[in-house]
Amino acid sequence: MAAQVIDGKAIAQAVRDEVRAEVEAWVGAGNPQPGLATVLVGDDPASAVYVAGKQRACAEAGIAGFDHRLAADTGQGEVEVLLRELDADPRVSGILLQLPTPPQVDGAGMTELIAPAKDVDGLTPASIGLLAKGRPGLRPCTPLGVMELLRRHAVELEGAEAVVVGRSDLVGKPLAALLLAANATVTICHSRTRDLAGVCRRAEVLVAAVGRPRFVQGDWVREGAAVIDVGINRTADGLAGDVDFEPAAERAGLITPVPGGVGPMTIAMLLRNTVQAAKAQAMANTGEG
Ligand code: NAP
Repeated sequence: MAAQVIDGKAIAQAVRDEVRAEVEAWVGAGNPQPGLATVLVGDDPASAVYVAGKQRACAEAGIAGFDHRLAADTGQGEVEVLLRELDADPRVSGILLQLPTPPQVDGAGMTELIAPAKDVDGLTPASIGLLAKGRPGLRPCTPLGVMELLRRHAVELEGAEAVVVGRSDLVGKPLAALLLAANATVTICHSRTRDLAGVCRRAEVLVAAVGRPRFVQGDWVREGAAVIDVGINRTADGLAGDVDFEPAAERAGLITPVPGGVGPMTIAMLLRNTVQAAKAQAMANTGEG
Protein backbone atom coordinates (compact mmCIF):
# COMPACT_ATOMS: atom_id res chain seq x y z
CA MET A 1 0.00 0.00 0.00
CA ALA A 2 1.40 3.38 -1.02
CA ALA A 3 -0.99 5.72 0.74
CA GLN A 4 -0.75 7.10 4.23
CA VAL A 5 -3.95 6.14 6.04
CA ILE A 6 -5.67 9.02 7.84
CA ASP A 7 -6.52 8.21 11.45
CA GLY A 8 -9.91 9.90 11.81
CA LYS A 9 -10.40 8.51 15.29
CA ALA A 10 -7.22 10.12 16.58
CA ILE A 11 -7.95 13.43 14.85
CA ALA A 12 -11.52 13.45 16.18
CA GLN A 13 -10.18 12.81 19.68
CA ALA A 14 -7.68 15.65 19.28
CA VAL A 15 -10.52 18.01 18.26
CA ARG A 16 -12.60 16.85 21.21
CA ASP A 17 -9.68 17.43 23.60
CA GLU A 18 -9.21 20.92 22.15
CA VAL A 19 -12.91 21.68 22.56
CA ARG A 20 -12.79 20.50 26.19
CA ALA A 21 -9.82 22.78 26.91
CA GLU A 22 -11.55 25.67 25.12
CA VAL A 23 -14.73 25.20 27.16
CA GLU A 24 -12.72 25.02 30.37
CA ALA A 25 -10.92 28.27 29.56
CA TRP A 26 -14.15 29.98 28.45
CA VAL A 27 -16.10 29.00 31.55
CA GLY A 28 -13.06 29.64 33.75
CA ALA A 29 -13.03 33.22 32.46
CA GLY A 30 -16.57 33.66 33.83
CA ASN A 31 -18.56 33.00 30.69
CA PRO A 32 -21.72 30.86 30.62
CA GLN A 33 -21.33 27.15 29.93
CA PRO A 34 -22.11 26.26 26.31
CA GLY A 35 -25.16 23.99 25.97
CA LEU A 36 -26.48 21.65 23.31
CA ALA A 37 -30.16 20.68 23.14
CA THR A 38 -31.03 17.52 21.25
CA VAL A 39 -34.61 16.75 20.31
CA LEU A 40 -35.56 13.18 19.49
CA VAL A 41 -39.14 12.39 18.47
CA GLY A 42 -40.06 8.71 18.64
CA ASP A 43 -38.06 5.61 19.45
CA ASP A 44 -36.06 4.83 16.33
CA PRO A 45 -33.20 2.77 17.84
CA ALA A 46 -30.49 4.11 15.48
CA SER A 47 -31.51 7.71 16.19
CA ALA A 48 -31.51 7.01 19.93
CA VAL A 49 -27.93 5.70 19.68
CA TYR A 50 -26.83 8.81 17.73
CA VAL A 51 -28.43 11.17 20.23
CA ALA A 52 -26.94 9.31 23.19
CA GLY A 53 -23.51 9.55 21.53
CA LYS A 54 -23.89 13.29 21.06
CA GLN A 55 -24.99 13.80 24.66
CA ARG A 56 -22.10 11.70 25.97
CA ALA A 57 -19.64 13.68 23.87
CA CYS A 58 -21.07 16.93 25.25
CA ALA A 59 -20.67 15.75 28.84
CA GLU A 60 -17.03 14.80 28.16
CA ALA A 61 -16.33 18.20 26.65
CA GLY A 62 -17.91 20.12 29.53
CA ILE A 63 -20.87 21.23 27.40
CA ALA A 64 -24.29 21.18 29.12
CA GLY A 65 -26.64 18.67 27.52
CA PHE A 66 -30.40 19.15 27.25
CA ASP A 67 -31.79 15.82 26.11
CA HIS A 68 -35.42 16.14 24.96
CA ARG A 69 -37.20 12.88 24.12
CA LEU A 70 -40.73 13.13 22.78
CA ALA A 71 -43.19 10.25 22.29
CA ALA A 72 -43.57 8.79 18.79
CA ASP A 73 -47.12 10.21 18.51
CA THR A 74 -46.11 13.78 19.41
CA GLY A 75 -47.82 16.29 17.17
CA GLN A 76 -46.08 18.84 15.02
CA GLY A 77 -47.38 21.72 17.17
CA GLU A 78 -45.71 20.33 20.29
CA VAL A 79 -42.35 19.99 18.55
CA GLU A 80 -42.73 23.53 17.28
CA VAL A 81 -43.39 24.85 20.80
CA LEU A 82 -40.33 23.04 22.17
CA LEU A 83 -38.06 24.36 19.40
CA ARG A 84 -39.27 27.91 20.06
CA GLU A 85 -38.63 27.49 23.81
CA LEU A 86 -35.11 26.23 23.14
CA ASP A 87 -34.51 29.10 20.77
CA ALA A 88 -35.40 31.54 23.55
CA ASP A 89 -33.42 29.70 26.27
CA PRO A 90 -30.08 31.43 26.90
CA ARG A 91 -28.58 28.21 28.35
CA VAL A 92 -28.98 26.55 24.96
CA SER A 93 -26.25 27.53 22.49
CA GLY A 94 -27.11 24.93 19.87
CA ILE A 95 -30.23 22.98 18.88
CA LEU A 96 -30.28 19.71 17.01
CA LEU A 97 -33.49 18.06 15.83
CA GLN A 98 -32.62 14.43 15.12
CA LEU A 99 -33.93 13.29 11.74
CA PRO A 100 -35.85 11.39 10.55
CA THR A 101 -38.96 12.27 12.54
CA PRO A 102 -42.21 10.26 12.55
CA PRO A 103 -44.46 10.98 9.55
CA GLN A 104 -46.82 13.39 11.33
CA VAL A 105 -43.88 15.74 11.99
CA ASP A 106 -42.32 17.60 9.07
CA GLY A 107 -38.76 17.19 10.38
CA ALA A 108 -36.99 19.04 7.59
CA GLY A 109 -39.53 21.88 7.81
CA MET A 110 -39.19 22.00 11.60
CA THR A 111 -35.41 22.48 11.41
CA GLU A 112 -36.16 25.78 9.66
CA LEU A 113 -37.50 27.06 13.00
CA ILE A 114 -33.97 26.83 14.39
CA ALA A 115 -32.31 30.25 14.29
CA PRO A 116 -29.04 30.35 12.31
CA ALA A 117 -27.18 31.35 15.51
CA LYS A 118 -28.19 28.02 17.12
CA ASP A 119 -28.12 25.83 14.00
CA VAL A 120 -25.14 23.70 15.04
CA ASP A 121 -25.99 21.14 12.34
CA GLY A 122 -25.52 23.94 9.80
CA LEU A 123 -28.16 22.45 7.52
CA THR A 124 -31.01 24.97 7.52
CA PRO A 125 -31.53 27.05 4.37
CA ALA A 126 -30.35 30.14 6.26
CA SER A 127 -27.05 28.50 7.25
CA ILE A 128 -26.51 27.08 3.77
CA GLY A 129 -27.18 30.55 2.37
CA LEU A 130 -24.52 32.06 4.64
CA LEU A 131 -22.07 29.39 3.47
CA ALA A 132 -22.90 30.05 -0.18
CA LYS A 133 -22.38 33.78 0.36
CA GLY A 134 -19.10 33.23 2.23
CA ARG A 135 -20.56 34.94 5.31
CA PRO A 136 -19.74 33.82 8.86
CA GLY A 137 -21.99 31.08 10.18
CA LEU A 138 -22.25 27.52 11.38
CA ARG A 139 -21.25 24.92 8.76
CA PRO A 140 -22.52 21.33 8.41
CA CYS A 141 -20.58 18.92 10.64
CA THR A 142 -19.59 16.10 8.27
CA PRO A 143 -18.23 18.42 5.54
CA LEU A 144 -16.42 20.38 8.26
CA GLY A 145 -14.94 17.10 9.45
CA VAL A 146 -13.60 16.38 5.95
CA MET A 147 -12.01 19.84 5.83
CA GLU A 148 -10.42 19.26 9.24
CA LEU A 149 -8.89 15.96 8.11
CA LEU A 150 -7.41 17.71 5.05
CA ARG A 151 -6.15 20.60 7.18
CA ARG A 152 -4.48 18.36 9.76
CA HIS A 153 -2.66 16.59 6.94
CA ALA A 154 -1.65 19.92 5.38
CA VAL A 155 -3.28 19.03 2.05
CA GLU A 156 -2.81 22.01 -0.27
CA LEU A 157 -6.24 23.17 -1.42
CA GLU A 158 -5.34 26.51 -2.99
CA GLY A 159 -5.74 26.02 -6.74
CA ALA A 160 -6.02 22.24 -6.35
CA GLU A 161 -8.34 20.11 -8.49
CA ALA A 162 -11.00 18.82 -6.09
CA VAL A 163 -13.71 16.40 -7.19
CA VAL A 164 -16.70 15.65 -4.97
CA VAL A 165 -18.78 12.65 -6.02
CA GLY A 166 -22.29 13.23 -4.62
CA ARG A 167 -24.45 16.35 -4.46
CA SER A 168 -26.59 15.84 -1.37
CA ASP A 169 -27.62 18.78 0.79
CA LEU A 170 -26.07 16.95 3.75
CA VAL A 171 -22.59 16.30 2.37
CA GLY A 172 -21.76 16.90 -1.32
CA LYS A 173 -23.05 20.42 -1.86
CA PRO A 174 -21.83 22.01 1.40
CA LEU A 175 -18.48 20.26 1.09
CA ALA A 176 -18.05 21.61 -2.43
CA ALA A 177 -18.81 25.10 -1.07
CA LEU A 178 -16.20 24.70 1.69
CA LEU A 179 -13.58 23.48 -0.81
CA LEU A 180 -14.40 26.41 -3.08
CA ALA A 181 -14.05 28.79 -0.14
CA ALA A 182 -10.59 27.27 0.40
CA ASN A 183 -9.78 28.21 -3.23
CA ALA A 184 -9.84 24.71 -4.71
CA THR A 185 -11.08 24.25 -8.28
CA VAL A 186 -14.16 22.18 -7.52
CA THR A 187 -16.10 19.74 -9.68
CA ILE A 188 -19.28 18.14 -8.34
CA CYS A 189 -20.27 14.77 -9.82
CA HIS A 190 -23.57 12.94 -9.56
CA SER A 191 -25.56 10.13 -11.12
CA ARG A 192 -25.80 11.90 -14.50
CA THR A 193 -22.11 12.75 -14.79
CA ARG A 194 -20.55 11.49 -18.03
CA ASP A 195 -17.14 9.82 -17.79
CA LEU A 196 -17.11 9.80 -14.00
CA ALA A 197 -13.86 7.81 -13.96
CA GLY A 198 -12.16 10.40 -16.19
CA VAL A 199 -13.31 13.30 -14.00
CA CYS A 200 -12.17 11.51 -10.83
CA ARG A 201 -8.74 10.85 -12.36
CA ARG A 202 -8.16 14.63 -12.54
CA ALA A 203 -8.64 15.01 -8.78
CA GLU A 204 -5.82 15.93 -6.45
CA VAL A 205 -8.48 15.77 -3.75
CA LEU A 206 -11.17 13.16 -4.37
CA VAL A 207 -14.16 12.91 -2.05
CA ALA A 208 -16.73 10.13 -2.33
CA ALA A 209 -20.18 10.75 -0.78
CA VAL A 210 -22.33 8.40 -2.83
CA GLY A 211 -23.75 5.75 -0.51
CA ARG A 212 -22.68 2.78 -2.67
CA PRO A 213 -20.17 0.28 -1.29
CA ARG A 214 -16.73 0.33 -2.98
CA PHE A 215 -18.12 2.38 -5.86
CA VAL A 216 -15.02 4.47 -6.60
CA GLN A 217 -12.52 2.18 -8.30
CA GLY A 218 -8.78 2.12 -7.68
CA ASP A 219 -7.95 3.14 -11.24
CA TRP A 220 -10.12 6.27 -10.90
CA VAL A 221 -7.60 7.60 -8.40
CA ARG A 222 -4.86 9.97 -9.54
CA GLU A 223 -1.35 9.03 -8.31
CA GLY A 224 -0.70 10.77 -4.99
CA ALA A 225 -4.27 12.10 -4.55
CA ALA A 226 -5.88 12.67 -1.17
CA VAL A 227 -8.92 10.35 -1.12
CA ILE A 228 -11.65 11.03 1.43
CA ASP A 229 -14.37 8.43 1.77
CA VAL A 230 -17.54 9.74 3.43
CA GLY A 231 -19.57 6.61 2.66
CA ILE A 232 -20.90 4.36 5.39
CA ASN A 233 -22.54 1.29 3.90
CA ARG A 234 -23.69 -1.77 5.81
CA THR A 235 -22.82 -4.88 3.78
CA ALA A 236 -22.84 -8.62 4.45
CA ASP A 237 -19.15 -8.40 5.39
CA GLY A 238 -19.48 -5.37 7.65
CA LEU A 239 -19.13 -1.63 7.09
CA ALA A 240 -17.78 -0.51 3.73
CA GLY A 241 -16.99 2.91 2.35
CA ASP A 242 -17.77 4.31 -1.09
CA VAL A 243 -14.18 3.72 -2.22
CA ASP A 244 -12.64 0.37 -3.12
CA PHE A 245 -10.02 0.87 -0.43
CA GLU A 246 -7.18 -1.54 -1.23
CA PRO A 247 -6.67 -0.69 -4.92
CA ALA A 248 -7.31 3.00 -4.25
CA ALA A 249 -4.66 2.99 -1.51
CA GLU A 250 -2.13 1.66 -4.04
CA ARG A 251 -2.38 4.92 -5.96
CA ALA A 252 -3.45 7.55 -3.41
CA GLY A 253 -1.02 9.59 -1.32
CA LEU A 254 -3.46 9.87 1.55
CA ILE A 255 -6.68 7.96 2.18
CA THR A 256 -9.36 7.58 4.86
CA PRO A 257 -10.44 4.13 6.02
CA VAL A 258 -14.04 3.14 6.76
CA PRO A 259 -14.69 2.88 9.62
CA GLY A 260 -12.29 5.21 11.44
CA GLY A 261 -11.99 7.98 8.85
CA VAL A 262 -14.62 10.66 8.37
CA GLY A 263 -17.19 8.95 10.64
CA PRO A 264 -15.78 9.99 14.04
CA MET A 265 -15.27 13.58 12.87
CA THR A 266 -18.97 14.49 12.71
CA ILE A 267 -19.57 14.57 16.48
CA ALA A 268 -16.24 16.30 17.08
CA MET A 269 -17.25 19.11 14.72
CA LEU A 270 -20.72 19.31 16.32
CA LEU A 271 -19.01 20.04 19.66
CA ARG A 272 -16.81 22.64 18.04
CA ASN A 273 -19.86 24.26 16.41
CA THR A 274 -21.63 24.38 19.78
CA VAL A 275 -18.73 26.27 21.35
CA GLN A 276 -18.53 28.58 18.32
CA ALA A 277 -22.27 29.27 18.68
CA ALA A 278 -21.95 29.95 22.43
CA LYS A 279 -19.13 32.42 21.87
CA ALA A 280 -20.92 34.22 19.04
CA GLN A 281 -24.08 34.52 21.18
CA ALA A 282 -22.12 35.87 24.14
CA MET A 283 -20.47 38.47 21.91
CA ALA A 284 -23.80 39.44 20.35
CA ASN A 285 -25.26 39.86 23.84
CA THR A 286 -22.48 42.17 24.96
CA GLY A 287 -22.81 44.14 21.75
CA GLU A 288 -19.31 43.23 20.56
CA GLY A 289 -20.34 41.15 17.60
P1 NAP B 1 -27.42 10.76 -0.74
O1 NAP B 1 -28.27 11.88 -0.25
O2 NAP B 1 -28.04 9.46 -1.09
O3 NAP B 1 -26.64 11.31 -2.02
C1 NAP B 1 -25.85 10.45 -2.79
C2 NAP B 1 -25.28 11.21 -3.96
O4 NAP B 1 -24.53 10.27 -4.74
C3 NAP B 1 -26.34 11.83 -4.89
O5 NAP B 1 -25.98 13.14 -5.22
C4 NAP B 1 -26.32 10.92 -6.11
O6 NAP B 1 -26.53 11.58 -7.35
C5 NAP B 1 -24.88 10.41 -6.10
N1 NAP B 1 -24.83 9.12 -6.82
C6 NAP B 1 -25.59 8.04 -6.64
N2 NAP B 1 -25.27 7.09 -7.54
C7 NAP B 1 -24.30 7.61 -8.31
C8 NAP B 1 -23.58 7.13 -9.44
N3 NAP B 1 -23.81 5.92 -9.94
N4 NAP B 1 -22.65 7.93 -9.98
C9 NAP B 1 -22.42 9.18 -9.48
N5 NAP B 1 -23.06 9.68 -8.42
C10 NAP B 1 -24.00 8.91 -7.86
O7 NAP B 1 -26.25 10.43 0.29
P2 NAP B 1 -25.51 11.33 1.41
O8 NAP B 1 -26.43 11.68 2.49
O9 NAP B 1 -24.72 12.40 0.73
O10 NAP B 1 -24.49 10.25 1.98
C11 NAP B 1 -23.50 9.66 1.19
C12 NAP B 1 -22.78 8.62 2.00
O11 NAP B 1 -22.14 9.24 3.11
C13 NAP B 1 -23.68 7.54 2.60
O12 NAP B 1 -23.00 6.30 2.59
C14 NAP B 1 -23.89 8.01 4.01
O13 NAP B 1 -24.18 6.94 4.90
C15 NAP B 1 -22.56 8.63 4.31
N6 NAP B 1 -22.59 9.67 5.36
C16 NAP B 1 -21.67 9.60 6.34
C17 NAP B 1 -21.63 10.56 7.33
C18 NAP B 1 -20.59 10.51 8.40
O14 NAP B 1 -19.54 9.96 8.20
N7 NAP B 1 -20.78 11.03 9.56
C19 NAP B 1 -22.57 11.61 7.33
C20 NAP B 1 -23.47 11.67 6.28
C21 NAP B 1 -23.48 10.70 5.30
P3 NAP B 1 -27.95 12.22 -7.76
O15 NAP B 1 -28.04 13.50 -6.99
O16 NAP B 1 -27.82 12.44 -9.23
O17 NAP B 1 -29.00 11.23 -7.38
